[in-house]
Amino acid sequence: MAMDMSYLESLQTLMATEETTEGESSGGIWVVAQSTAEGLAGWADKLVAQARLLADQLGAYIQVLLLGSEDEALANVLIAAGADGVHMTLSALPSVAAVAEFVAERSPEILLFADTPLFRQYAAQLAGKLDKPFLSGCTGLDIDMVTSGLMVQRPVMDNRINELVAMREGVRPQIAALFPEPLPEPFSDPYRTGSVEVVSFPAGDVPWLAGEVVDAPLSQPALKTAKVIVAGGRGMAGAGWPLVESLAEAIGGVVAGSRGALDEGWIPEERMIDLVGQRVAPDLYIACGISGQMQHNAAIENARFVVAINHNPNAPIFKVADVGLVGDVGEIIPALIESVGDFSAMVK
Ligand SMILES: Cc1cc2nc3c(=O)[nH]c(=O)nc-3n(C[C@H](O)[C@H](O)[C@H](O)COP(=O)(O)OP(=O)(O)OC[C@H]3O[C@@H](n4cnc5c(N)ncnc54)[C@H](O)[C@@H]3O)c2cc1C
Repeated sequence: MAMDMSYLESLQTLMATEETTEGESSGGIWVVAQSTAEGLAGWADKLVAQARLLADQLGAYIQVLLLGSEDEALANVLIAAGADGVHMTLSALPSVAAVAEFVAERSPEILLFADTPLFRQYAAQLAGKLDKPFLSGCTGLDIDMVTSGLMVQRPVMDNRINELVAMREGVRPQIAALFPEPLPEPFSDPYRTGSVEVVSFPAGDVPWLAGEVVDAPLSQPALKTAKVIVAGGRGMAGAGWPLVESLAEAIGGVVAGSRGALDEGWIPEERMIDLVGQRVAPDLYIACGISGQMQHNAAIENARFVVAINHNPNAPIFKVADVGLVGDVGEIIPALIESVGDFSAMVK
């Protein structure tokens, strides 16, 4: 019997096409990673490792878009953590429109970001450009094995409970941002191999993000490593926020704030001490006019010494304070500034 060779040939062509494109850059899971002058963002390989867990369930490949570097050594770190390919660009914050086009051409199943203040906003812009939904604030990721869709876990009701959210069936790419902390250290396999490619994009087109290519504000030292932090809350409304800054300056501390301070517009999001903001571990933490909600107090549990100033003796902040000063911030802070002098010397 004569075989239809044209059928076999077209099947072979199809299989060859799948082999070369599937593993390289089409479909699968895409992760956006960041590199700064200090190297890879601390979360980059951890995020890739989380994506690997999803990819293994889906039998998919992982591609990384590494922003801000063309250093192959960094790409190899991401490959060791689970990436199958890395596309590097020197652009730290490429044009949203160009990246949207890049993503659309590659039709990923899932597009993952770290939920940092910068990338949450960037991802939201990108999702808008692609006209797709975007799930931010995720603390966990999983695959629904029935639909093969992405499921995320997010804290709600003041972090008291977690909700599980599934993306509407058929939405592609499924765009989500995962909180980079706390994520487990990735298993690094130096023998993993993957492709590395340099890509270029036009400069950023988001005026309000221009120049802000790292998440830590440039004008302030990083909160994570700060030895002394002076944080203010909504209770500073009467006395005025500048008092918090004056106290921080007097004792060589770094300024931060509570959710209340953020809501009042006194601090940027990256300065907020909260479970969904920054968790800190200074030697000294001074809370001024902060009530001490669970999310705030949990975020300072690794502080060595906590001083709280609040005029309400029943404020929950006193439960976690080593020293509580009950009184008006408008009176206590100026007195502290006057008497303390160079307090920072005491905690060195
Ligand atoms: C939708 C929604 C989401 C929320 N999400 C979060 C969240 O993620 N994280 C979170 O922590 N909270 C959250 N909250 C709760 C709430 O917004 C915050 O807990 C609150 O804003 C915490 O900020 P704060 O401690 O600065 O202010 P407040 O809770 O208003 O406390 C101010 C404190 O200052 C004291 N004070 C006032 N005046 C003085 C003075 N002159 N001298 C001394 N002390 C003074 C008061 O006694 C009070 O204890 C949320 C609320 C809503 C509605």
